[in-house]
Amino acid sequence: MSKFPPLEIPHTIAAGPGPGNTDQRVLDAFSRSGVADHMHPAVLKGMVEAKEMLREAWGTKNLYTFGVAGTGWSGLDCAISPILAEDKVVMFVNGTFSGIDSIGVRMKAATAEELAANSLDPKPASVTVIDVPHGQSVTGEIVEKALAEHKPMWAMMAHWETGSGRINDIQGFNDACEKHGVMGIVDAVSSLGIGNFNIDDYPAVKIWASCPQKGILSLPLTYAPVSFRDEAIEVVKKRGVRTYDHHPILEARHWGIANGQDGQQHGYHRTHSCYAVAAFHEALRIMLEYGKANKAADYEFYNAGLRQAVEAMGCDVTSNMPSLIVLDLPGDLKGKEKELVGNCRAQNFGIWTTLSEPVQIRIGILNLLGKDSINEIASKFADAMLNMGAEFHKSKIMANLDSYLSSK
Ligand SMILES: *Cc1c(COP(=O)(O)O)cnc(C)c1O
Repeated sequence: MSKFPPLEIPHTIAAGPGPGNTDQRVLDAFSRSGVADHMHPAVLKGMVEAKEMLREAWGTKNLYTFGVAGTGWSGLDCAISPILAEDKVVMFVNGTFSGIDSIGVRMKAATAEELAANSLDPKPASVTVIDVPHGQSVTGEIVEKALAEHKPMWAMMAHWETGSGRINDIQGFNDACEKHGVMGIVDAVSSLGIGNFNIDDYPAVKIWASCPQKGILSLPLTYAPVSFRDEAIEVVKKRGVRTYDHHPILEARHWGIANGQDGQQHGYHRTHSCYAVAAFHEALRIMLEYGKANKAADYEFYNAGLRQAVEAMGCDVTSNMPSLIVLDLPGDLKGKEKELVGNCRAQNFGIWTTLSEPVQIRIGILNLLGKDSINEIASKFADAMLNMGAEFHKSKIMANLDSYLSSK
C-alpha cells in the first residue's frame, strides 16, 4: 500500500497571467511519443525542426536560437549568463518580473564580497536599477536618459511586464542601446507567441529569452526559447560564462549549432526528454499554423471585449497588454481583491492578484481565444463581484459582450 493515493489535479480555467491552457494536441504529442533516448535521430530531428520554427516565430536569423530545458527563468538565466562580476549594467524595473530579473542580474554582476554581504538580494556597485512605478511603462526617454548617464556595458528590461500588465517601449530601448553602444537583453517571456514582432527589427537587443507556458503554450515542462545575436556569442567566446548547463555555446551544440553553423554533429549536453521535444515541436507547429499576425489580432480583439465588460462592472483597468487585464476593484470592494480572487480560485476559476504591491487583480486569456471562453470568464468574474456586494446589471453587460464577440 502506498502512503498516498494517486494524485489527482482538477481541470481549471487558467485565466491568469500564465500558465496558459495547454492545447490538447500538445498533450497528445507528449503522451504519444515513444521512449527514445536523447541522441535518437527522431529526437534530434525534432530539435532541429523546433529550432527552425522558433526562428520563424521570433522573426530572426540568429543562429544561436534554441530552447533551454526548463521554465522561463531557465531561459533567462542562460540569457543573463554572459554578465560577469563587476560588469556595468542598467536594469529597468516596472513590476514583479523585471524585479526578479534584476535580482538575477545583480547576482551575476556582484563581486564575491558583494554577494556575501547580501546573498539573496545583492546590491553590486556596478548595477544601476531604474525603478519605474507599478502601472507605468518603461519609455524610450527613461532608457535614453539612464544609458546616457551611466554608459553601461549591458541594459535589460522586460518587453511586457506581466506583474503590472504593461508593454514597455522596445523600439526606444533598442534605439538608446544602439546610440550608446550598449548590449541590450530583453525578457520576452510574456510577449513571444502573443505579440506580432520580429526580433531582427531590434538589432541592438543582443539577447532575448522567453518561456514554454505563456504564448507558446507547451506547459509540460519543455523549453524556454532564447536567441543570441553573434555579437553576444563573441563576448561569451572571449570571456566565458560561469555555468555549464545554461552555457549558450555548449547548450546550442545539442541543437546542432557549432562552429558558427547549423547542421553540425549534435553534441551531448543534457538528457533531453523525447516527450518534451514532441510536445514543444507540436506547440510550435500550432503557433505557426495560427499565424503570428492572426493570433496577435485575436488577442487584441478578445482582450478589448473583456476589458469593456469589466469596465462596465466598474473596474478600473491599468494594463495595456493584449493577453492580460490588470484592474482595481470599484468602491466598497477596494481592498478585497485577495478575497475575491480566493473565492474564484476555490471554484477552479484561476485568476490572480498581483504578486507584489499594490494589490490588483489579473485576468488573462492565454489560449482562451473564443467567444465561449471570454463569455465564461466575464460571467464568472461578474458573479464573484456580485456575490461580494457589487451593483451592476449583469445581463446587460453580458448581452453587450456577446454582441461584440459575435461581430467577429
Ligand atoms: C512568467 C514570467 C517569468 C517567469 O517564467 P516561469 O515560466 O515562471 O519561469 C519571467 N518574466 C516574465 C516577464 C514573465 O511573465
